Amino acid sequence: MADTEYDFDLFTIGIGSGGTRASRVAAAHGARVAAAEEHRVGGTCVIRGCVPKKMLVYGAQFAEDLEDCQQFGWTIEGKSFDWVKLRDHVMKDVGRIEGVYTETLEKHDVTLFHEHAKITDEHEITLASGKVVTAKHILIATGATPHVPDFPGNEHVITSNEAFHLDEVPGCILILGGGYIANEFAGIFNEFGSKVVVANRSDVILRSYDFSMRDRLMQISMTKGIEFLFRAEVEKLEKRDDGTFAVKMTGVEERTFDLVMAATGRVPNVEGLGLENVGVELGKRGEIKVDEFSKTNVDYIYAVGDVTDRVQLTPVAIREGQAFADSVFGDVEPYSVDHSCIPSAVFSHPPISSVGLNEREAKEQYGQVKVYTSDFRPMKNVVAGRNERSLVKMICDGANGQILGVHMIGPYAPEIMQTAAVAVKAGMNKADFDATTAIHPTVAEELVLMK
Ligand code: NDP
Repeated sequence: MADTEYDFDLFTIGIGSGGTRASRVAAAHGARVAAAEEHRVGGTCVIRGCVPKKMLVYGAQFAEDLEDCQQFGWTIEGKSFDWVKLRDHVMKDVGRIEGVYTETLEKHDVTLFHEHAKITDEHEITLASGKVVTAKHILIATGATPHVPDFPGNEHVITSNEAFHLDEVPGCILILGGGYIANEFAGIFNEFGSKVVVANRSDVILRSYDFSMRDRLMQISMTKGIEFLFRAEVEKLEKRDDGTFAVKMTGVEERTFDLVMAATGRVPNVEGLGLENVGVELGKRGEIKVDEFSKTNVDYIYAVGDVTDRVQLTPVAIREGQAFADSVFGDVEPYSVDHSCIPSAVFSHPPISSVGLNEREAKEQYGQVKVYTSDFRPMKNVVAGRNERSLVKMICDGANGQILGVHMIGPYAPEIMQTAAVAVKAGMNKADFDATTAIHPTVAEELVLMK
């Protein structure tokens, strides 16, 4: 394995989810691996994404539970919420996980450089300190960074990167965008007591999700007090002397907010990597173009995860990192990642989860489809007096009953969907679900009871 012509067999730039998995697995296959990370080990998911976000989602859920518990006989006197306490606990755990990631890499003898790395010549990487190393293979796993639309005053806007470090919960927040991050943070801030306004440039939220799920989330969110503005793009933002922001959006009178957050997509992190020095090809959105084996147009340079802008999800980056490391350094036939039928979730309040085709896509691709829905009020909501209905939708091929997609909004939707995704991925039919006995009483049983 060792090729002494180079300092390392693999040099990974970016130690997020994909880079960590690839480096660890390559090292386990016997490769001499080095990696550089200019921020913190763990990348977006661990440090400023999925992990701390989910912790905030848990924290936010208590707001509803503490309200609902009264109908279950509980009285809690003097309840109060301390944002700083939650924030600091979350950050402490993020630090713990960062330590675990670092330890794993060290245990696998991966040499870690905590600094910026740039490709300066063929097989050559120069670190910020000036140190130059060579590697037989280079993996770019630098992820993506929040995109902030261009408008006067956009320097005052925060992104999800900063949302985890606020000194206080804003009284009134404007969230730009209508995708994953906008809806997740709308739910979080709303539960913590902020007045939340979500403003998107188009007239939908969560464009890729099934329309019934989107409509239900909108309806529930609005009932909870979240306001939505559509076809609303910021024309101008001004910071006032009192620290608030005056925001003028298309078709909307000027409004005042304590905080403005952009959740308007993420763009691949390719700046300053020296890709031009070796001719790595980029796509229209600045993403690194790769083939099915995550190889770029340069034979020894690979890229995985968000920087390739294939599917911006952590588990996908991890699979791509694993496949790359096994294929290049392992004793297996090179294999690629199957990017079809990837389940996903939006951790909104309530969450949405989905696998396979939405109804519109299914009709476009299959023509004849059969749609089953279950629209119900979960038992817990009934007792709590919470007028919030869940929705499950199953879309099947009209010809043979094969399940093409399952969508759900309601409590535990992401937990339930992980199991349903196995069945959908395996190509099961509605009849297979019908033949399965329900677990009663659960929310999940709706999946096998739909008529
Ligand atoms: P999304 O792609 O989910 O949504 C982006 C939103 O911003 C859309 O509503 C889009 O409008 C709007 N938008 C896009 N570009 C612009 C622009 N130039 N100006 C104004 N508005 C714009 O992005 P997010 O930032 O919410 O999240 C980034 C990615 O991170 C997600 O795509 C997802 O892959 C991942 N992620 C996953 C999570 C999860 O798995 N639970 C959680 C958080 C993030 P339009 O309506 O026109 O599309």
